[in-house]
Amino acid sequence: LTDKLSGLVKKISGQARITESNVADMLREVRMALLEADVALPVVRDFIARVKDKALGQEVLGSLKPGQALVGIVNRELAATMGEGVADLDLAAQPPAVILMAGLQGAGKTTTTAKLARHLIQKRKKKVLTVSGDVYRPAAIEQLKTVTAQAGADWFPSSADQKPLDIARAALDHARRHYYDVLLVDTAGRLAIDEALMQEIKTLHGALNPVETLFVVDAMQGQDAANTAKAFKDALPLTGIVLTKMDGDSRGGAALSVRQITGAPIKFAGVSEKIDGLEVFDAERHAGRILGMGDILALVEQVSTGVDLEAAKKLADKVKSGSGFDLQDFLGQLQQMKQMGGLGSLMDKLPTQMMAKATDADLNRAEKDIRRKEGIINSMTAQERKKPDLLKASRKRRIAAGAGVQVQEVNRLLKEFEQMQGMMKQMKGGGLMKMMRRMGG
Ligand code: GDP
Ligand code: MG
Repeated sequence: LTDKLSGLVKKISGQARITESNVADMLREVRMALLEADVALPVVRDFIARVKDKALGQEVLGSLKPGQALVGIVNRELAATMGEGVADLDLAAQPPAVILMAGLQGAGKTTTTAKLARHLIQKRKKKVLTVSGDVYRPAAIEQLKTVTAQAGADWFPSSADQKPLDIARAALDHARRHYYDVLLVDTAGRLAIDEALMQEIKTLHGALNPVETLFVVDAMQGQDAANTAKAFKDALPLTGIVLTKMDGDSRGGAALSVRQITGAPIKFAGVSEKIDGLEVFDAERHAGRILGMGDILALVEQVSTGVDLEAAKKLADKVKSGSGFDLQDFLGQLQQMKQMGGLGSLMDKLPTQMMAKATDADLNRAEKDIRRKEGIINSMTAQERKKPDLLKASRKRRIAAGAGVQVQEVNRLLKEFEQMQGMMKQMKGGGLMKMMRRMGG
């Protein structure tokens, strides 16, 4: 985590002036980040070209901190590409408003159908009917029945010996006669793009005249999402996208690809297998996730105000003059970590995915851990801090008692210190100062 943080800060706040070549450098990083997030290559190229146009314009030249400005442009452009504002379901149709679900097998259509039913009932007070046109997998019809019940919506029975088109017509007729506001039509998917499947869903679309045709796509699909999106877009007039399995490890680059290729807004994100695991898609937050940086601008701001430049310079001079990195310096580093607003507020700036993994309990533990380490170093004499070699068993016992911790904890801290010292030695020769100056913005 810390590696990632310092790496990113180095990259984005290091530049003092903007030039054609450092824009290129920074854009290379952005390009890497997008590819790592599984954005499709042609989409990345387009995106980088657009950012470059903007970056070389006035916005950046007029800015005091070009690195930050560029990151800002990247972030804004990402968010804009994925759609600004919030796009809820369009129900502006003579009821029943029909919503047709399209996508490959396993994308999450059936699950999402039920999630949407729940959303429409709870948030928009609608009377909702679902129906499955997936006659190829009998279990799929049962699955929709089960999840529809969980959503508190009604389910229209269908069976494997019927034609999808007949099912759809019967369901529509039933929905009309029973005054449903919305009819959600779940469909069959295939494992890969398939002509017969496309033909079938086109036919369904023609018969149902849906107000929404949602393309459901698995965020974990990565690069393949682009091809799938292209095929569905060519077959159907898509009105929206649902990106599922956003709770997985992927950085969600599929969002950018799919949005760019289909031109349809991303309306929802699936964030768990459960019925309530659906969120309205937030492009801005997602931009941060794709870059793997969370709210980077705020983070850069925080880091550059939090670091004590004087102390950093002293430390750098010391390393350079060969007098070494001692425990007093280590203490200084711990204190800087606290100055940066505490771990908690730093964590707020990180991508949601990472945040999800760090619970409040983790943060409390980490902050407590820093305090304990400070306590240990504070229990040492000035001489011990300068010459950690002095710390033999009896001194360690005294320090442990002074700090109210076990001797093992003192040993752990010393080990950590040695690792840090090793790193500092490697950075000797100007590297550290450069790094600190970068952090200082
Ligand atoms: P379909 O073939 O397109 O109808 O896909 P399903 O709705 O049957 O979903 C396939 C699998 O993905 C199931 O195991 C779902 O529980 C799971 N799934 C769907 N959406 C999500 C999601 O947002 N997060 C997670 N973790 N799993 C999901
Ligand atoms: Mg299904």
